[in-house]
Amino acid sequence: MHIQEFQALIKAIYHTKDSQRGLDRTFVWFVEEVGELARALHRGNRQDLEEEFADCLAWLATLANLQGIDMEVAIRKYQQGCSKCHATPCTCGEPKPTV
Ligand SMILES: [Zn+2]
Repeated sequence: MHIQEFQALIKAIYHTKDSQRGLDRTFVWFVEEVGELARALHRGNRQDLEEEFADCLAWLATLANLQGIDMEVAIRKYQQGCSKCHATPCTCGEPKPTV
């Protein structure tokens, strides 16, 4: 399945509910899913990881749908390699930690 197909599928399944919930509350759901992914990364259970990666991508697609963003178009920024240095693999230096 292509990303555009996945995004269209998520739209078909959830767009009515997502539109009613609105952007701000949907973003909160997305962040909660990212938190669940964080917990799954620490547990290391493969089935949990697959579920949480799928959920995060689904909520990300939902946010893109609410904003009218075609994710397949958006990711073209990486088509020529790193979005900053344009190399593959990236040759940018690691940013210094700010904390
Ligand atoms: Zn780079």
